[in-house]
Amino acid sequence: MKLETPVLIVGGGPVGICLAIDLAQRGIHCVVLERRHAGELPSVKCNHVSSRTMETFRRLGFVARIRAAGLPDDYPNDVVVRTTATGHELTRIHIPCRRYRYTDRSGPDGDWPTAEPPHRVNQIFLEPLLFEAAQATPGLTVLNRMEYLGHIQDASGVTAQVRDLDSGREFHVRAGFLVGCEGGRSLVRRAIGAQLTGDDVIQRVQSTYFRAPELIRLVTKPDAWMSYLYTTERAGNLLAIDGRETWLLHNYLLPHEQDADAVDRDACLRRLLGVGPQFQYTLLAKEDWIGRRLVADRFRDRRVFICGDAAHLWVPYAGYGMNAGIADAMNLSWLLAAHLQGWAPESILDAHQRERQPITEQVSRFAMQHAQGAIRERTTVPPQIEDSTPAGEMARREVGEAAYALHVQQFACAGLNFGYFYEGSPIIAYDGETAPGYTMHRHTPSTVPGCRAPYFVLPDGRPLQDALGTWYTLLRFDGELDVEPLLQAAAAAGVPLALLDVEAALVPAAYRHRLLLCRPDQHVAWRGDTLPADPSALVDRIRGAVVGG
Ligand SMILES: Cc1cc2nc3c(=O)[nH]c(=O)nc-3n(C[C@H](O)[C@H](O)[C@H](O)COP(=O)(O)OP(=O)(O)OC[C@H]3O[C@@H](n4cnc5c(N)ncnc54)[C@H](O)[C@@H]3O)c2cc1C
Repeated sequence: MKLETPVLIVGGGPVGICLAIDLAQRGIHCVVLERRHAGELPSVKCNHVSSRTMETFRRLGFVARIRAAGLPDDYPNDVVVRTTATGHELTRIHIPCRRYRYTDRSGPDGDWPTAEPPHRVNQIFLEPLLFEAAQATPGLTVLNRMEYLGHIQDASGVTAQVRDLDSGREFHVRAGFLVGCEGGRSLVRRAIGAQLTGDDVIQRVQSTYFRAPELIRLVTKPDAWMSYLYTTERAGNLLAIDGRETWLLHNYLLPHEQDADAVDRDACLRRLLGVGPQFQYTLLAKEDWIGRRLVADRFRDRRVFICGDAAHLWVPYAGYGMNAGIADAMNLSWLLAAHLQGWAPESILDAHQRERQPITEQVSRFAMQHAQGAIRERTTVPPQIEDSTPAGEMARREVGEAAYALHVQQFACAGLNFGYFYEGSPIIAYDGETAPGYTMHRHTPSTVPGCRAPYFVLPDGRPLQDALGTWYTLLRFDGELDVEPLLQAAAAAGVPLALLDVEAALVPAAYRHRLLLCRPDQHVAWRGDTLPADPSALVDRIRGAVVGG
């Protein structure tokens, strides 16, 4: 058997499936190879879906289904710090429950510039919905129980060797491009000769997924989605998975505890929950993991790319593992589609690594820096933290205040969502102005080319994002300006470009120019008060036809 496809995606995790859906919606047929059975759940890892990822789901047309999944409607999405799960509460970061997610503006992420605030849903609920969306998308085929073994590539394509795990039969798939989205142990990464560099071990964690129907009654009220637990002996983190009876407990191992299995799981669980020997629970899975900070030194070898955990791994602070991977996929997807549709030369693909690798490195360092702060915090817990004495109360207040200041940065990470910009891209027309810096927590909206076009709502109530075309959109803030030469230059090169007229009085102050060219991923490609003298040169720049970038 020999299959042929324009794009072959290895790995049907969240990154591979999102890449496939976006490509297919752009008219590019693709095949996904996935080792798991159809419907087989992933392990209980990611819980936080970022605002940018929710915006992607909105664009792809299934955000409502994702928003409806996860914790019960009224279950608080708050993050708390407690001594034990049933002990004293030290601080609370308010994140609205689903029922009020679009209306409650009181939390630290309540004023975010987006139509889609973040969402809390575990990967075991998210992935089946992504898979369902993939199945409903024409032009996309997911082949389950198929394992990628290796590939060779030539000037016109890639031939991958695949094994059917049920029959043991091996066959080839011929593809124009291959994208490895098969997670941290990526074979594609090895096959393209990429090396992971960074910090191999930052934190070892013994994680336990368990069912305990009585815990919801015992935990300190009000409920919370995530609880950091600080006892005098050890620290942990408890996540509500279904908001009823399933939980995930991360037990941060002490420096001398190298082997998670050698640490008494049951005793640690009872200590962190603050429950006695009579407490009943069922262990569902051991999910032990090691926090790292590793980024691949290359994301591409000619016709083969890597995305998501295949390209980077770090401690998932700020909930930015899968979300960063989906951002990679959304960047690569439109570049590949532009090339495969014939209006962009292959050199447009150079932009992927030039844009994503510095951002990835940056996020990994934010996560690492935050991890160091969090490790410091939980290893310097005052001995009186659990005492019901004035000294204990004071310790709890002090630790609580410091914990709020630290963790609000990761749970309201506006900078990670909206602040990052692409500099040094070969397909962006820069104009000499420097983009404003950002932190994990803060950003400054800006129209400097490379930044995300600042959010605003149009007079008809649509957020800007909903009004943008599938491809490039020229925003015109002065209806008198003749933009015909640019539209014609785009049409002549086959570049899909839509025009959107916007009343200047309605836009945020960050918009200082009369024209702005927005890319399919909402990043600014160019801005100006008049059209450039040579519109074709601008079109060639954005479609990757300017040799040397
Ligand atoms: C404890 C924990 C908490 C986390 N929390 C968050 C969070 O809140 N937010 C967040 O964004 N991220 C979080 N992450 C990270 C997140 O889980 C990962 O970044 C995400 O799963 C990566 O998605 P992926 O699609 O790149 O890879 P994976 O999810 O690993 O998917 C890869 C897929 O490829 C398949 N596969 C592997 N090899 C082959 C092969 N040879 N052939 C065919 N198929 C193959 C696998 O079966 C799998 O389905 C967390 C991680 C951990 C450990």
